[in-house]
Amino acid sequence: MMKHFKLYSNCLLVKGFKRSLIVDTQRIQYQLIPNDLFEILLKTEKISLDEIYIEYNIENKKIIENYFNRLIEEELGFYCNEEEVEWFPKMNIDFQTPFLIESCIVEELSEVGKYKNLILQLEDLQCQYIEIIMYETLTNELLLDILSLFEKSSINRIGLILKFDEHKDLTFLKYLTTRFLRIVKIIVHSTEDNEVLNCNDFNATEIIKSSIIIDSFKFCGVVDMKYFTPHIAHFTESLQHNTCLNRKISIDRNGEIKNCPAISKSFGKLQDTSLATALADPEFKKYWNVNKDQINTCKDCEFRHICTDCRGYTEDENDQYAKPLKCGYNPYTNEWAEWSTNPLKEKAIEYYGMQDLVKKDV
Ligand code: SF4
Ligand code: SF4
Repeated sequence: MMKHFKLYSNCLLVKGFKRSLIVDTQRIQYQLIPNDLFEILLKTEKISLDEIYIEYNIENKKIIENYFNRLIEEELGFYCNEEEVEWFPKMNIDFQTPFLIESCIVEELSEVGKYKNLILQLEDLQCQYIEIIMYETLTNELLLDILSLFEKSSINRIGLILKFDEHKDLTFLKYLTTRFLRIVKIIVHSTEDNEVLNCNDFNATEIIKSSIIIDSFKFCGVVDMKYFTPHIAHFTESLQHNTCLNRKISIDRNGEIKNCPAISKSFGKLQDTSLATALADPEFKKYWNVNKDQINTCKDCEFRHICTDCRGYTEDENDQYAKPLKCGYNPYTNEWAEWSTNPLKEKAIEYYGMQDLVKKDV
């Protein structure tokens, strides 16, 4: 019987300009591979190994076998016979979600009354995650009052970005993460040192202390390998949508309802416009279906389906398909460089007033 090679169906291929990626969506990992192997793996879907060896010149058989054996060792694929090939159908990679809104960003809002109304509206939109960003100090008492409002809410995950003060000590953070199990992430900025705390000590909550002073939304939009998400939900969403802005709503520090606080277009003020009304404006979803396959440079990048996309800060504010400003990766050379010192980005850095942020990312 003819022998075939198959990738496990949870292992998805992405071709880049110079190299490719196997995204293992089950283990939430990824593996770089040469583009030649990408081509071979596409062909193994249809033709046997003997046919592959003939097509790629029998002298290269050993090299190709080594590739396959390596993938088997890494548990990314397996050999099978002709009949078995049909037993392993492709995984469905359609993206579907029942939620009208998945996430909400709230900037510098400290009025408990406004949260009460906001939570009701977010629940109507089935929002799952809220990120509360405070540039100024928020007293622990007020923070507890705000968080208590979420206790019976259907919003099931909360992220906090808080300014450090002497009362935001480890004991308080421990109390927060024990009392409010919905908190999944806390970043405390303006601290003396930088530290990632052991999440095991905080009920599996990610806690980061950052010495950077976060005083505006300009901190957002950093592209870095540490933020890559080889998760099935992210991967499949990225095939159709913008992985940052799809189903996101934000209230900026002036109470303006926007898709993202960094995008200038407002759809009304929270005090006199409902979230549902803002969302009904077709312009609100302008970026929701702008995916990485449409973005300049990113469309040639092997990381495009595990990377996030920033439309708030781009290399050219006049081009809705411009590459994210805060990415230093070049898929044509496979090199990473510091984005903020790239002379080609100077104009955009100046446009966004980010000169002070150079090399100060969270
Ligand atoms: S679009 Fe950019 S600035 Fe806006 S939330 Fe996403 S990453 Fe942040
Ligand atoms: S080039 Fe685009 S897809 Fe690639 S790492 Fe940068 S932002 Fe992500």
